[in-house]
Amino acid sequence: MSEIHKFLFDGAPVRGVLVRLTDAWREILRRRATNTKHGAYPPPLQNLLGEMTAAAVLLQSNIKFDGALVLQVFGDGPVKLAVVEVQPGLGLRATATVSGTLPDTATLSQMVNVDNGGRCTITLDPQTRQPGQQPYQGVVPLCGDSHEKLKNFSDVLQHYMLQSEQLDTTLVLAADDQMAAGLLIQRLPQQGAGNLAGTSARANEDAIGKHEDYRRIALLAASLKREELLTLDADAVLHRLFWQEKLLRFEPLQGAAGPHFSCHCSRERVAKMIQGLGADEAASVLQERPEVEVGCDFCGAQYRFDAVDVAQIFKETVPPPPGDATLH
Ligand SMILES: [Zn+2]
Repeated sequence: MSEIHKFLFDGAPVRGVLVRLTDAWREILRRRATNTKHGAYPPPLQNLLGEMTAAAVLLQSNIKFDGALVLQVFGDGPVKLAVVEVQPGLGLRATATVSGTLPDTATLSQMVNVDNGGRCTITLDPQTRQPGQQPYQGVVPLCGDSHEKLKNFSDVLQHYMLQSEQLDTTLVLAADDQMAAGLLIQRLPQQGAGNLAGTSARANEDAIGKHEDYRRIALLAASLKREELLTLDADAVLHRLFWQEKLLRFEPLQGAAGPHFSCHCSRERVAKMIQGLGADEAASVLQERPEVEVGCDFCGAQYRFDAVDVAQIFKETVPPPPGDATLH
């Protein structure tokens, strides 16, 4: 079962989150593998998307925010896009597009940052948006301060957290075809709650990299090996790393309350998309085939609209006659 474990270090301004995605992650891979249009992910992309999925769950569970968190990588290599979306209730979905073949040994740079043009974005989309309100979005390149290409996706996010949050963060991520897992250790902001979208106090900036307790705990966390993260259970991971620390652990989130696969695509949303294409475009598709067919890249659902359905879609967009303005 997929699970999240949150904990605090007693007496130190440091918090941690450990996430282990099993069934949720396998469901994403299973749907992709059975999608005849795309087929299974090449192993390096599978592992990158798994690390991104674990990271997105870590970030979503680490912030106080009522809305979807979308983590995206826009690549300049064979992988053009990798995207993970985590809802406030921890429903999650992920997908990636790749062109051509990827060697099994492909690195992060070879997949998404060939010419240092790759970007990572984190978008916070509020559940209920005020009129005119835009989702918050932060962007970081896939290179460090001296334009050196970052080797691990965890480095990208650590860089992001330092730049945008002024928060020391240590991330360990790992994924294979059975598990996507991650550990996040973060120094607590000195005043107020951590806020991904907000500005941080000067005091936080000044304290970067200097807090003794954080540095000790971060070193321990960074010693966690990929294999350990993929094979040990949560208790074993936390004991292995922090047996000398006093941990205050919260009740784990698992089952329906924990991370789970969920896609909120629907026939109505696809109908709106066809509406957006316009009647002429839809008609030209129908001249070539009996149905307009739209597949969801996240879950593999296929939506089909025949000529009658399409006519209905555009009939509904006819503006109401004058005097009928109360109908919405
Ligand atoms: Zn879907």
